[in-house]
Amino acid sequence: MKYISTRGGMAPAPYSAILLEGLATDGGLVVPETVPQVDSEQIESWRSLTYPELATEVLSFYATDIPRDDLARMCAAAYAPAGFVAEEIVPVTELEDGILLVGLSEGPTLAFKDMAMQFLGQSLEYVLARSDRALNIIGATSGDTGSAAEYALRGKAGIGVFMMSPQGRMSDFQRAQMYSLTDDNIHNIAIDGVFDDCQNLVKALSSDLEFKRAHELGTVNSINLGRISAQMVYYFWAWLRATDAVAEGDRAAFEVSVTVPSGNFGNILSGHLAKAMGLPIRRLVLAANENNVLDEFFRTGIYAPRSAADTHATSSPSMDISKASNLERFIFDLLGRDPERLAAAWRELDETGRIDLSAELPRLETEFGFQSGTSTHADRVATIRSVYEASGTLIDPHTADGVKVAREHVEAGVLMLVLETAKPEKFPEIVLEATGQRIGMPEHLAGLLDLPQHVTEMNDDEAQLRAFIAQHAVQR
Ligand SMILES: *Cc1c(COP(=O)(O)O)cnc(C)c1O
Repeated sequence: MKYISTRGGMAPAPYSAILLEGLATDGGLVVPETVPQVDSEQIESWRSLTYPELATEVLSFYATDIPRDDLARMCAAAYAPAGFVAEEIVPVTELEDGILLVGLSEGPTLAFKDMAMQFLGQSLEYVLARSDRALNIIGATSGDTGSAAEYALRGKAGIGVFMMSPQGRMSDFQRAQMYSLTDDNIHNIAIDGVFDDCQNLVKALSSDLEFKRAHELGTVNSINLGRISAQMVYYFWAWLRATDAVAEGDRAAFEVSVTVPSGNFGNILSGHLAKAMGLPIRRLVLAANENNVLDEFFRTGIYAPRSAADTHATSSPSMDISKASNLERFIFDLLGRDPERLAAAWRELDETGRIDLSAELPRLETEFGFQSGTSTHADRVATIRSVYEASGTLIDPHTADGVKVAREHVEAGVLMLVLETAKPEKFPEIVLEATGQRIGMPEHLAGLLDLPQHVTEMNDDEAQLRAFIAQHAVQR
């Protein structure tokens, strides 16, 4: 399997090469040259596999330049029971009549980004060792993405992590989670500024190609194809678990629908690819919060990114987006995988601030199965409360966005799966508001707040940051 750019200007490259890159060399996004196909017999043959075994099967379609034994070893290490609270790694449980919850938040940082980052940590270390290279990841975080990256990359040979966070603007939990790490290759840098200042520092260094090359800088943001490929695995896993109780003869074409709390369109894109591979998914339901740029696209066919000023800070903060970085990959498929048409769409975006694909609107649902919906703070509160009252289960505000929209899209006789993207313990305020319940740290993290913290405080000063990176960057 080789990978090409949505804009058509990149020579086909193997998986191990694109793992290390962000954008394609022509500014597009990297996609598989063809979508591998699996049939129902093959999927059925995976039913008894453990999560890491299933990951090996699914990823072997994509990581074709990594020997299978090595891939199996990496999947076993990424999804080892010791790193996850639930023994089965991804528990699938009934939430209410017709709705199942897919537990993607059992990993070290209690959110679904661990699912992809844990595999990326293993595969990056492997690919770097094989090519005798180093990689220094620079990133900006307001809390959650940074911690998933740090937990996945801690102690990895050939990899350094420089994570900027805004001083005094993260929760006690987020600070404790990141700053308590003691690994030599993890550098937490608290910038005297806000998140945008951190992001601007990352942009400044990333666009200095000479500095970037000299210190082998890179990023692992949500457009990384290694992450997208690892996320496909749990769609297969969830379908297999949802159909365990279905009579054997009825399984092959048993369609389920999946609702995905969405921000940058990474998680649901993996679902789109799993469906395109042949997994029987009927509907992919996109759940947005008040930042409804994607809901608007799936309802009207018009994609109109917002300005930062028009982006609302909500109580499901990981879905507060103004544009959706991964949408270009879906639009590529929508436009028949034609780089000319894709490039024209992006020219339209540059010139008019929007892409009008309303002519394709019917196909979004009929051909690709997409539906969408939104929710508000009041909806999240009401949903957390009603789920708690009905089943005693506490859900987080992002998952609540999902459950709210899922309930509006349930069809008789079709199981609806909702992806749980974070644990409620990360968002105690809204849980208290909704249920009156005070939740503390999960048991296995008790004591985290008392650990000594390691962080370098720095002014919002590019020169100082450069000096720090030059001094601490990992080299081969
Ligand atoms: C990142 C994140 C999302 C959004 O996922 P995308 O892949 O960006 O669509 C939703 N919920 C939580 C808790 C997240 O951390």
